[in-house]
Amino acid sequence: MRFAYLGSGSRGNALVVEAGSTRVLLDCGLPLVEVDTRLARLGLVASDLTAIVVTHEHGDHIGGVAKLARRNQLPVWLTAGTRAAWKAAPDEWLRTLTPHRHLTIGELDVMPYPVPHDAREPCQYVFGFEGRRVGVLTDAGSVTPYMREVLSGIDALLLEFNHDRAMLMNGPYPSFLKQRVAGNKGHLSNAQAAELLGSLDISRLQHLVLTHLSETNNTPEHALAAASDVLGAQPDWLVCAHQDAGLDWRHVN
Ligand SMILES: [Zn+2]
Ligand SMILES: [Zn+2]
Repeated sequence: MRFAYLGSGSRGNALVVEAGSTRVLLDCGLPLVEVDTRLARLGLVASDLTAIVVTHEHGDHIGGVAKLARRNQLPVWLTAGTRAAWKAAPDEWLRTLTPHRHLTIGELDVMPYPVPHDAREPCQYVFGFEGRRVGVLTDAGSVTPYMREVLSGIDALLLEFNHDRAMLMNGPYPSFLKQRVAGNKGHLSNAQAAELLGSLDISRLQHLVLTHLSETNNTPEHALAAASDVLGAQPDWLVCAHQDAGLDWRHVN
C-alpha cells in the first residue's frame, strides 16, 4: 500500500491511497486542471482512479469532486449528512456510507469514523490492506476517545497540525474566525495534534505526515517541532504535506 498528496491545506485537499490495482482519491478540493497536473507528477492519470471518498462538504475538500466524478465516471462515497449539505452534488455518482461501518472499495478496506467539525456529518478514514492501516485525521476541533482508539497502533498517520495557537490568536484573522478555528468543531492545533500523538500506540508507525497546515497561522518548523517533541526525535519518516507541492509517494511496508 502507498499514498501521496496532490495538495493539503485550506486552498485544497486531495490524497491518493493505492493498494494493488485500487486507487482511491480522498477529497478533491482542487480544480480539474490541477488534479490532472498533480496526478501526472505521481505518474497517474485520472482514469487510474477507482473512486472518490469524501470527508465533508467544505470547499477545500469537495470543490473539485463533482467535475472529476462526472468526467471520469467515478463513484463518490460520502455520509448522508454530507450528501444533504452539498448543494451542487453529482447525484448520479453518489454512494452513501455509514460511519463505523467498514466498506470495501476494490482491494481497500475503508473505515469511516466520525469527528467533531463544523460540517453536517463529517468523518475521517482508516484505509486497510493486507494487515496494514493508514489513518487520516484532518478537520477536527477536538479529540474524542473513539478517535484515539481508531488511530492507535496505526502503520501510517496523516494528521492535521493546523495552527500554532499563539500565531492564530496574535494573527490577522478576524475574531469570529479565530474562535471558529480554535473551537471544539474547528481545527487541531499543533499542541492538540501532539497531545493526541502522545496518547497513541505508535509502535508500528512508519510514517507521520503533518497535514492541513495553515499558511497564515502555522509554519512547518512549528508543526515539526511539536511532533518531534512527542516522538523524542525528528525521524526521517516525519514530513509535512504541502499545499501546492503535496507529498510524493510514501510506501507502507
Ligand atoms: Zn479543510
Ligand atoms: Zn472543514
